[in-house]
Amino acid sequence: MTTNKDEGYIKFNYDWIPATLPNIDLEELIFWRQKLYQAKLIGSYPNGIGYGNISMRYQENQFVISGSATGNLAVLDASHFALVDEFDLTKNWLSCIGNLPASSESLSHAAIYQTLPQVNSIIHIHNKELWNSYLHKLPTSGTDGEFGTPTLAFSLIDILKKEKSIPGIIVMGGHEEGILIYASDIIQAGEKVFSLIG
Ligand SMILES: [Zn+2]
Repeated sequence: MTTNKDEGYIKFNYDWIPATLPNIDLEELIFWRQKLYQAKLIGSYPNGIGYGNISMRYQENQFVISGSATGNLAVLDASHFALVDEFDLTKNWLSCIGNLPASSESLSHAAIYQTLPQVNSIIHIHNKELWNSYLHKLPTSGTDGEFGTPTLAFSLIDILKKEKSIPGIIVMGGHEEGILIYASDIIQAGEKVFSLIG
């Protein structure tokens, strides 16, 4: 079981081009990120370490995701997002463009985009109550898959390939409080999160 002490620290190798993003409409992404932040599903722990992130597919398997260590910021703008333009799960590597490097949990998002072409948006939240109530009741990744590791990425791919009817929710067994929600667009992903908390 991980603790949250290392939440937010990048565990993958990456190439990062510090640059302003290409012209991508981030309005919906920012809108939902703010809603999730207000609901404390994305945010920060008392020690200041941020948690949670949000992404949407750009072209093919490329995606835009909130930047590393932005969970604790009340308001995000385009400068807080990064475009992951290439990744290799086996090599635990990605390449990104943005004013910040991509979120430490980007490879979990990458695993889902790569496996399910119909998915265009992914939200990663933290919530202890939801995690406790859905652990092993909804699809749950392996308990040895700590966040941000290839083990987790491959555990996610296993689940996605096995599930016949995909609820669009994966409880992260090795990442306490962590849940991934994915859908064909950002609105459906966001609404799915709020339907979970009722
Ligand atoms: Zn997390």
